[in-house]
Amino acid sequence: MRLPLLVALGLIACHAPVAAPPRPAPRAPLTLTYLGVAGWQLEADGHTLLLDPYFSRPALDGPIVPDAAAIAARTPPRVDAILIGHSHVDHLLDAPTIARATGAQLIGSATTAAVARASGVPDDQIVTVKGGEDYQFDGWSVRVLPSLHSALDGKHTVGGPLAGPPVLPMGFADYAEGGTFAYLVRLGGHQILLLSTANFIERELAGLRPDVAIVATGLRQEVYDYTCRLLHAVGDPPRVFTNHFDDWRAPPVDAPLDDDLRDFLAEVRACAPATVATVPGHFRSVTIP
Ligand SMILES: [Zn+2]
Repeated sequence: MRLPLLVALGLIACHAPVAAPPRPAPRAPLTLTYLGVAGWQLEADGHTLLLDPYFSRPALDGPIVPDAAAIAARTPPRVDAILIGHSHVDHLLDAPTIARATGAQLIGSATTAAVARASGVPDDQIVTVKGGEDYQFDGWSVRVLPSLHSALDGKHTVGGPLAGPPVLPMGFADYAEGGTFAYLVRLGGHQILLLSTANFIERELAGLRPDVAIVATGLRQEVYDYTCRLLHAVGDPPRVFTNHFDDWRAPPVDAPLDDDLRDFLAEVRACAPATVATVPGHFRSVTIP
């Protein structure tokens, strides 16, 4: 009796209704705005997300405080969430002020969370991540991808967490890297890969199929076959935007393309001829249907 029962159970299992795969969300226009340094604003379907917004561009030779006027002038009225790639000052400085002003969720490492808390961001607005999470929010979702910082100082700088509890204002060197993440955002039926520093862990990206990849370019020469390996790992995405290519210590002005950016665009053309790569202008928006 036992064998026929098992066969019957097998048949039931084979013929049990199978949950339909999730349907792709209907596409809404996606507007991407470059905020300078590694900062981006993503808008679709009534939602607004920010990545590494950095409007202050302060002097870096003493205690560093956010520039409240510069932040107020550029912060959208409604922000769902702020994603932080790592906790260096040019990625994190302004996020707590924006979170406090807008009520946005602030997503980042334990180091990012500690700085946010010390800046007065309420605990219920802070989402601390370790990498590997895939979190659903109201109308959008984000996969947190373990990643690596660009190879500073000829590969001789190793990041790490804060030396101790942050006491604000901190100096430049006090803003510890705190671990680095890339993000895959799903918003308005689009998938957007965000890399805010030029390095990655290939196995964490392999098989992702973003429509848009925002790709840090500075110091990529320190990484083996950066551009081709990255693009191929994520299926040669249709659209690429350069990131973290401007002078982060200077005011946010559009400069003529330098050799490094020309080289990057040529690398994309050579590796993924169907991919359209764009160097964004500061505070200019591109809408993808
Ligand atoms: Zn950094």
